[in-house]
Amino acid sequence: MELGEIARLVGECRKCGLHRNRKQAVPGVGNPRAKVVFVGEAPGYWEDQQGKPFVGRAGKLLDEVLTSAGIKREDVFITNVVKCRPPGNRRPSKEEMEACIPYLNMQLESIGPRVIVPLGAVAGETIARKYGLPWSGMFKENGVERKVVTILGEVTVIPAIHPAAVLRNPENKGMLVRAIEKLKEFI
Ligand code: SF4
Repeated sequence: MELGEIARLVGECRKCGLHRNRKQAVPGVGNPRAKVVFVGEAPGYWEDQQGKPFVGRAGKLLDEVLTSAGIKREDVFITNVVKCRPPGNRRPSKEEMEACIPYLNMQLESIGPRVIVPLGAVAGETIARKYGLPWSGMFKENGVERKVVTILGEVTVIPAIHPAAVLRNPENKGMLVRAIEKLKEFI
C-alpha cells in the first residue's frame, strides 16, 4: 500500500481512545523509498499541532545530530509506534500500541528500509518484539546492530536513545551521536 493511503487510513482511524483528544493524527513523513526508518514512541504537543513527527525540541536535536552525520531528513522516513498523541504525553498503553502497530507494519512493508532505528525504550522494545530480538534496556541496546531476515529481505535494527531523553540528560548526547553515526554506511 502507498504511504499516502496509509496516512489517509491513520487520519480517519478511531481504533483506540487516542483519537478523541488529538488535534490531528501524525502518520509520519519522509522518503517513501528511505533506506533508514526512524520509529519514535508517540507524537507530542507540537507534533499533534502540526501533524508531523519530531518537530518540537526533540526533533530539532535529532535534526542537529543527523546533519552532523551528513544525513538529510528528506532521505529518511520518521514515524512513531502510535500515531496520535497520548494526553499529557503519557506512555501509550499496551492496548493503544497493539491497535496502532498494524499501521507501522504497513509503512515498513511499503518502504522496505535496510535499517530501522527505534528511538527510545518503548519503540526499541516494540521493534525487538516484532522481530523476535532480545531487549535488555536502552542503555545496553543503544547503537547495537542486529540483523533480521524479513519477507522484504535483510533488515538491520539499530536502537538509539530518544532525543527527549538526551534533552533531560544532556550528558547522554554521545549515545545518540554514536548510534546515528552507524547509519552512514547504509545511506
Ligand atoms: Fe488509530 Fe493509532 Fe490513532 Fe489509535 S493511535 S486512533 S490506533 S491511529
